[in-house]
Amino acid sequence: MVAPASALERLKQGLRRTRAILETPVPDLVRGPLDAADLEAVEEALLASDLGLRATGEAVEMLRARSRDIARGGLGAMRALLREEIERSLDVPAATTPFTARPWVVLVVGVNGTGKTTTAGKLAGVWKREGRATLLCAADTFRAAATEQLEVWATRTGSPLFRGSPGADPAAVLMDAVVAARARGLDAVVVDTAGRLHTKRNLMAELAKMARVAGKGIPGAPHETLLVLDAITGSNGLAQGREFARAANVTGLVLTKLDGTAKGGVAVAVVRELGVPIRYVGVGETAEDLLPFDAAAFAKGLVGE
Ligand code: GDP
Repeated sequence: MVAPASALERLKQGLRRTRAILETPVPDLVRGPLDAADLEAVEEALLASDLGLRATGEAVEMLRARSRDIARGGLGAMRALLREEIERSLDVPAATTPFTARPWVVLVVGVNGTGKTTTAGKLAGVWKREGRATLLCAADTFRAAATEQLEVWATRTGSPLFRGSPGADPAAVLMDAVVAARARGLDAVVVDTAGRLHTKRNLMAELAKMARVAGKGIPGAPHETLLVLDAITGSNGLAQGREFARAANVTGLVLTKLDGTAKGGVAVAVVRELGVPIRYVGVGETAEDLLPFDAAAFAKGLVGE
């Protein structure tokens, strides 16, 4: 299991580029009360981190209202206020508690290239380290490469793989996987779904069908539907995110590639927009680079101490 300190280090490392942006305007602010130019500099930094218009507006208003405290407490006070504000907007309660059913069935959905397959594989790795066995289910039966990639993750994490035959109905594949996992007494099934079909409508209909069928195999399944979003695309991926959220009853988000972007603030924008919590963040390409989301640690990594 990854020690908490090391997970925190990974997160801080992953958010390094975003933090650099948020730290830029700050050194000039220690001299006295915040003035309009200071607030503008902070506003620019928050927008550049992709925090979004609304959240940025509210944060700047809050700083304006607290400018006396900031004048007294200096930089540290301003950072603490920003951290609190960001933590509050990220702290959305989860609708589900993992492993309250067996097997725990998780659908992983999202646009191709966001890191869906990688996340499915890493998730199996996270749970393996906690002593739980996960069946990885390759339900993108239209893309052979997706199955091969998941197979690599199955081997890497020592997890069994369930693959559908090429062109098979993904809902049927999912059903078979769930039945197999139950028969083998496994703890979880993580289902890697297609991110693209001939039409968007087909894709959304397919995801909805998979969710329906899962519930027939095991009551309440899928217990979690995780939407994978790429932090590099940032707020540009939000429109697609909304469509997935509508079609697939998304219960949680995974924000990937935080290590490759200065737009870590997008975490706040997506939570506000989609109204569901972030469950994990991706900070690299190895099996250890998926971290359970912690709003306080994230806010600290974003804004600095
Ligand atoms: P999918 O098409 O959505 O299944 O996306 P993949 O899982 O194939 O990932 C696309 C690329 O993003 C791969 O090269 C992954 O290694 C990479 N990737 C995924 N998550 C992360 C992450 O958190 N950080 C970095 N740096 N790369 C990632």
